[in-house]
Amino acid sequence: MIVGINCGHTISGPGAGAVGYFSESEHTRHVGYALMDKFVTAGVQVVDCTINYADTQADYLKRAVEKANNQDLDWFISIHFNASPKHMGHGVEVYTYEGRQYPDALAVCNNMEKLGFKNRGVKVGSGLYAIRKTKAKSMLIEVCFCDNQEDASTYVSATLEKVVNAIYTALYKYVIDKDETSILGKSIATAEQLKAYMLMRNYQAVSYTHLPQLFIEEGDKEGIRGDGAFIQSCKETGFFKFGGDVKPGQHNYAGLGATGGVPGLSFPDDRTGVRAQIQHLKAYASTEPLVMKCVDPRYKYVNKGCAPTWEQLSGKWAVPGYSGYNNFADAWAAKDTYGHHIVKMLKEALQTVSIPEQKKQEYIYSVSIADVWTQAEADAIALCHPGSKVHKITV
Ligand SMILES: [Zn+2]
Repeated sequence: MIVGINCGHTISGPGAGAVGYFSESEHTRHVGYALMDKFVTAGVQVVDCTINYADTQADYLKRAVEKANNQDLDWFISIHFNASPKHMGHGVEVYTYEGRQYPDALAVCNNMEKLGFKNRGVKVGSGLYAIRKTKAKSMLIEVCFCDNQEDASTYVSATLEKVVNAIYTALYKYVIDKDETSILGKSIATAEQLKAYMLMRNYQAVSYTHLPQLFIEEGDKEGIRGDGAFIQSCKETGFFKFGGDVKPGQHNYAGLGATGGVPGLSFPDDRTGVRAQIQHLKAYASTEPLVMKCVDPRYKYVNKGCAPTWEQLSGKWAVPGYSGYNNFADAWAAKDTYGHHIVKMLKEALQTVSIPEQKKQEYIYSVSIADVWTQAEADAIALCHPGSKVHKITV
């Protein structure tokens, strides 16, 4: 996916933007370049289609479109701020060719509305040169009105970061490589598969076999993939061997609040700990509010919606989120970051076949330290060594 971003207008002279409570030209660059940064960090190829100076307004438009059409762009996005003759206009609007109601264009308006701007909707932009002449699918975003006092103060109080984030999260899921895996959605792996996968990796994790079901239940409440969250816990705890800063009794299976030597948060029970983790994931993955009462003390610190996919947690939930590479970009290109690991493990879990009930009877446990083995442990051993006969001895 290649995205062209145009910070609307030249800096000054012919082609410069409107000036109201703030300068359009200046702020199209603040928003546009922050947006480019976010896409680049996410591994999206970005082409800067900004033109800083031009001889005429027409020359500016022609050259911006040339920049866009020189590349095989999938999306062309032009950032603007609006103005109106009597300075009464206010709100966000997006222009597309023939007013096509692209879901990502609609999402830009909806996300901006959540920041307090009037939602003016997606409108016909076929008359706009930048829309009509660009080969790629295109949208022109009028962030808000720079000459309207109410809009200007909403824009300032919302903060640039949140405005950029509103646009980014609207576009993100349509722009990222389709091979990234969303944190949002229903679990695909079953509790049985997750349990079997955990035990295959650590047959002593028998006191955690109730967790997969909890994760799936709590994930469903918030629209988060509980199966992925459980796998994240497997990664964070080393398949419940722990050994890091967080200890088993804290019911904190994702290192919430733990940073180098600090033990992190403690929760009264497993369900609360799992719920907090799910809520923390929702904070990263979505700008939607929580369904359940917030039990995650660190929920408020997360830049909402900054990481809609597991891969995106790299460098955000986990910092730096990679090891053994010179930089993040190299690790990302190798698909070898914190988030890529979770996705890989989730795929492995999905390939794990849980043991059918009748099959369990066929395993005969015959391990020398047999008196500590339970059925679950034996199942795990049988899974690890297909075809093995394990003799069960009851505790
Ligand atoms: Zn403009």
